[in-house]
Amino acid sequence: MRLTDKICALLSKTVLRDKGISYVAMFHKITPDEVVAQEPFACSQRQFESYLTGLKRAGMNVISVDDLLTHPVDEVLKKKVVLTFDDGFADIDSFVAPLLTRHGVPFTVFITTSLLNTEGYLTTEQLKVLAQNPLCTIGMHAHRHLQFRSSSKEELLADFCRCKEELCRLTGKEPLYYAFPYGSVYACSWQNSRVVRGAGVKAVFMTLPLKLTAGLLRYRYYLPRIDVPTLLKQGKMRYD
Ligand SMILES: [Zn+2]
Repeated sequence: MRLTDKICALLSKTVLRDKGISYVAMFHKITPDEVVAQEPFACSQRQFESYLTGLKRAGMNVISVDDLLTHPVDEVLKKKVVLTFDDGFADIDSFVAPLLTRHGVPFTVFITTSLLNTEGYLTTEQLKVLAQNPLCTIGMHAHRHLQFRSSSKEELLADFCRCKEELCRLTGKEPLYYAFPYGSVYACSWQNSRVVRGAGVKAVFMTLPLKLTAGLLRYRYYLPRIDVPTLLKQGKMRYD
């Protein structure tokens, strides 16, 4: 285990000990296949449904990214969760969106535009339908799923613009939020986040597993997210 992984595991434990916290949850593939669900970052549909039930039982409120950034900070920091889904897996269309819509729960999907219409990912038609769902926010997850730390400012900006243009064209809306691929301190730097900030987004999401704080919310261009599926598999995320 790398040192950063150890630190992340420790931070996650600290976060979850505090029951009154707010955080941004990060998901990837949500699969009906319990074997596939064991892959890193994946989650089974059964686990996801019981996580949702657990949130409700614990009195956690799921809010949208817009609410996260516009509601008073004091309010946002009390038992709020934002649900985010990276990459744009096909199960968003077949499982996640129908389930969350039935429950009236807002969610955000960060799309990697080069993955659209490839096997296992959303089609452009499915994305168009998703973008019409009032509970769903479509965000950017780059055009190419790269670690941008070693990229030049120009390369990062060119990729950012391609992603933004494609999402604007397909959804008819300007995407306002960006989540870096990989998102760790090794994959993208503070400088990278400044470049994306300068390109005009309202908030930037990373994968540092921290709870939300007033300072992080006020700055909002290096927002942490917690990899919930890994904690569920390790039995570390419980609401009982
Ligand atoms: Zn990703």
